[in-house]
Amino acid sequence: MKKVITVCPYCGSGCKLNLLVENGKVVGAEAANGVTNEGELCLKGYYGWDFLNDTKLLTPRLKQPMIRRSRGGQFEAVSWDEAIAFASSRLKTIKAQHGPDSIMMTGSSRGTGNESNYVAQKFARAAIGTNNIDCCARVCHGPSVAGLQVTLGNGAMSNSICEIEDTDCILVFGYNAADSHPIVARRILKAKEKGAKIIVCDPRFIETARIADLYLPLKNGSNMALVNAFANVLINEKLYRQAFVEQFAEGFEEYQALVAKYTPEYTAEITGLDPELVRKAIRMYAQSATATILWGMGVTQWGQAVDVVKGLSSLATLTGNLGRPNVGVGPVRGQNNVQGACDMGALPNTLPGYYSVTDAAARERFARAWGVPSLPAETGHSLTEVPHLIEEGKIKAYYIFGEDPLQTEPDLGVMRKAFAKLDLIIVQDIFMTKTAMMADVILPATSWGEHENVFSSADRGFQRCYKAVDAPGDVKDDWQIHSLMATAMGYPMHYDNAQQIWDELRGLCHLYTGATYEKMADLGYVQWPCPTEDHPGTPWLYEGNRFDTPSGKALLFAAEWRAPREQVDADYPLGLCTVREVGHYSCRSMTGNCSALQTLADEPGYVQIHPDDAARFGVQDQALVWVASRRGKVITRANINPRVNAGAVYMTYQWWIGACNELTAEHLDPISKTPEYKFSAVKIEAIADQ
Ligand code: SF4
Repeated sequence: MKKVITVCPYCGSGCKLNLLVENGKVVGAEAANGVTNEGELCLKGYYGWDFLNDTKLLTPRLKQPMIRRSRGGQFEAVSWDEAIAFASSRLKTIKAQHGPDSIMMTGSSRGTGNESNYVAQKFARAAIGTNNIDCCARVCHGPSVAGLQVTLGNGAMSNSICEIEDTDCILVFGYNAADSHPIVARRILKAKEKGAKIIVCDPRFIETARIADLYLPLKNGSNMALVNAFANVLINEKLYRQAFVEQFAEGFEEYQALVAKYTPEYTAEITGLDPELVRKAIRMYAQSATATILWGMGVTQWGQAVDVVKGLSSLATLTGNLGRPNVGVGPVRGQNNVQGACDMGALPNTLPGYYSVTDAAARERFARAWGVPSLPAETGHSLTEVPHLIEEGKIKAYYIFGEDPLQTEPDLGVMRKAFAKLDLIIVQDIFMTKTAMMADVILPATSWGEHENVFSSADRGFQRCYKAVDAPGDVKDDWQIHSLMATAMGYPMHYDNAQQIWDELRGLCHLYTGATYEKMADLGYVQWPCPTEDHPGTPWLYEGNRFDTPSGKALLFAAEWRAPREQVDADYPLGLCTVREVGHYSCRSMTGNCSALQTLADEPGYVQIHPDDAARFGVQDQALVWVASRRGKVITRANINPRVNAGAVYMTYQWWIGACNELTAEHLDPISKTPEYKFSAVKIEAIADQ
């Protein structure tokens, strides 16, 4: 038996593990002593590998290229030459007829490495000539990136996952660590054991609330009001660090003026919180020697998400909880390489290394390195704008790489209708997802465990993964596929291995220059910025309280609270919030093909409902129910649960039947274009005969 070091592909915690391989098959996984996991894994790390042995629980593994010569026709297995010729010639025709910006692409954050994302965006920019590439950050932490880039100059976690346990106070805001990142949850527990104070702001009584010193059950959709109330108390009670603010921050006067009316009493009706509880919470945060704020989708999947991120960042600035160890702002990134997809420039507004596409000098440097006369200067389109752009005739082809928008995007009915109008759908994936089933061309790729690559964990940590087993069938690495496509499109691109790609990237991005393959070997962990080869990497940002903003100062920001855009009413009296299931990951194409995880949760989802609401709507525990919104209707099983708040219901988005995105609204944050997955008005109906 051999042990192969890799990184778990199921969340941004970056847990290192050994895949145990015997006779070319994976027979188990054991925790490795990685920097973030220190010899621990959650259930997905231990049991999330058996699809590598070609199990077929949910969907078939894609093992050979396929094309469909007419929409609705049968898939036809073809050679790689034929598939690439078919896909590239149709893309070339679309580009010639409608221009490069009529083509949309995705990067991938699901177990696909940084090298492949780098090559994918290079294909988009250099071979096609468009910045129309985006990744799943758009539907998760896009607001964190957009908000923190403005307030602090860097969109990533300021401090490290390991530091969480050594902080004196953790403000957990809209973040269910136990389900999203169990190994981060473990750090929170360790902090508690070491004496840290824990404050939880969440409408549901989540696992972390059980160990909280203070639990604030705010109403769904009131985040901005609560953040403003916190700021109001900090200023009115002079709990903020005035000298820090004067020296290292800007915008205080406007900020103070805006939050002046948001007293805990004024916001009580919006948040549903006892004003004294709000005061106690923010005093606890401000009076701790070190404090950190962790947030997740409960902050970012709202129509006012960017404002709230900026507001949370401002709380850290006001209290001087930046620029040193064990403090900071922590948007804990969801998918295992969503940080990496952003780092690599799989975003419509940034090149690799976060150089803006509007920065002429950066564009020129990349163009020279990539051997093209110029690169597109206009910011590209966002993933979430795609259905409307298709309807308007602006997007004609969609090249989807390791994403499943027909499962994960809001308002799936709108998405399906738009997809039917596309001239060309190319899907590059490992499984026959819902999206792959609509494709004209399927390009099958190797999976995590079948290639080597670098992942970025949520705290900017680069780690190497090694190949454990051969992939089944006639599949290729993602970067090989994009290279073949680029060459066929008239832009020759060739790499011998992943390291060549990585070294090209390092040469172009000062943030990553020192993160060599050698430094990341085995259990190595290099956090960017790492500007030179003798640099050890950067566990925490903003040393000397020098921020990465144009002025070098942190920006204080507050905004007026806005209610969720869809409101409950007599017809749709409950607010639907989408959440995660600990045993499954993203669209479930990978974890649904792992027998142990499938056994843990093998039903078509559930809807969590408070006992009072269940009684009100005649719903029995574990009975099948209809859940309907203005957009659709799905069947699922009721889970009567006193830990959820009355007036709201909660569903996971991972199931094909009972897919809650049939119900969600595509209301977008105006800045980040992230959908308001956390609030759609729905009704629930018991099914009489069961
Ligand atoms: Fe670690 Fe996340 Fe994998 Fe669990 S799912 S083992 S927390 S990386």
